[in-house]
Amino acid sequence: MEITAPRGVRDILPGETEKWRFVEGVAYNLAKRYNYREIIIPIFEHTELFSRGIGEATDIVSKEMYTFEDRGGRSLTLRPEATASIVRAYLEHHFEQKPQPQKFYFFGPMFRYERPQAGRYRQFWQIDFEALGSPDPLLDVEVIALAWDLMFSLGIKNLEIQINSIGCPKCKEGYKIALKEYLADKLNLLCEDCQRRYETNVLRILDCKRESCRSIVEGAPKITDYLCADCKNHFEEVKEGLDLLSLPYILNPYLVRGLDYYTRTTFEIISYKLGAQNALCGGGRYDLLAFEIGGSMVPGVGFAAGLERIVMVLEEEGLLQDTEKGIDIFIVSIGEEAKKQAFKLLHILRREGISADMDYTNKNLKAQMKIANQKKAAKVLIIGEDELSVGMVKIRDMDSGKQEEVSLSDVLSYLRRWKK
Ligand code: AMP
Repeated sequence: MEITAPRGVRDILPGETEKWRFVEGVAYNLAKRYNYREIIIPIFEHTELFSRGIGEATDIVSKEMYTFEDRGGRSLTLRPEATASIVRAYLEHHFEQKPQPQKFYFFGPMFRYERPQAGRYRQFWQIDFEALGSPDPLLDVEVIALAWDLMFSLGIKNLEIQINSIGCPKCKEGYKIALKEYLADKLNLLCEDCQRRYETNVLRILDCKRESCRSIVEGAPKITDYLCADCKNHFEEVKEGLDLLSLPYILNPYLVRGLDYYTRTTFEIISYKLGAQNALCGGGRYDLLAFEIGGSMVPGVGFAAGLERIVMVLEEEGLLQDTEKGIDIFIVSIGEEAKKQAFKLLHILRREGISADMDYTNKNLKAQMKIANQKKAAKVLIIGEDELSVGMVKIRDMDSGKQEEVSLSDVLSYLRRWKK
């Protein structure tokens, strides 16, 4: 086969989709419990939304976006993340006129031109929660609690919450000067990207994953020592809130995250089970994002969790065994007339809410039984010519191997009783 899926893009096949839906189901239920309502955002947006929102100097905008011109000459971009779109939708549809905060839940694929590796793809799926319209530090705590609850509800253990505050633009300015001073005589030890970042956006150096840069960052001044009184208070209240809920967290003064829109709180949930790509979810507060994309000041806080990485951890920890359920009934038929009866019965069963299938390849009895097994059918209905001539059907329980004869007219009530 010459044409394969593009690099870094994968099919999510039957067998895997059940895992996807399982995680999505847990997230959707949590969204209801925490009162976050589902929003579905477009797959592409005006490029400007992301370049202004996420920041020109970020890796995402400078080298990872799938940007194209449409036939009308507009520059459009496949969404690399959901927050900017959700904020845009909030502004466009005047959610500021509703009671605040407004809370949103989203689930869907994102697109980034990254170097593919385990846990890193060019099309990947995110679960996203965003709360817009309140600067209350308890809302930061709610969002972190929600992220933690998501992992807990999925049964994932060996996790760590890392938090930081990167302050407001005022705090960042003072910190950037201190950071630049610290790095000035170490520039030649930094990677090429970081040498560029030193000029364009020095905070991004804290986010570099290269070991050589990380070891330099370890001795750098801490942004939490440069917070203004308001940002300091906010951070204290976030920590108090986390303590109030007994949520375990670790302070990581270098956690800036890869997007420029964050202000004050940033956080990640890290899994010890993953390799280099160990962040299961990440997020924070972004009080200036709405303003930066041309709207009014709307404070917000949220996070995104990566589906691929969550599924990887669930698989490793053996927490997904039950997701691939089989069907209720497989109908095996022998002969033309029996096949017709089987087909009619199949239709009736399905309309009764029973999951059912049959053979369409005219295989022999043994081969059809094998298919039933592969499809993990709970019961097999066998309609042969002999059975049909006396109006009977055999029902075989695949677990116990027990077989019963039931008259064709009683099959439905028999199966209804069984399904109850
Ligand atoms: P971000 O949108 O960069 O804050 O990332 C939020 C979460 O999305 C991360 O913690 C990952 O779980 C996931 N994620 C980000 N980028 C990728 C990628 N290229 N492939 C797979 N998952 C990703």
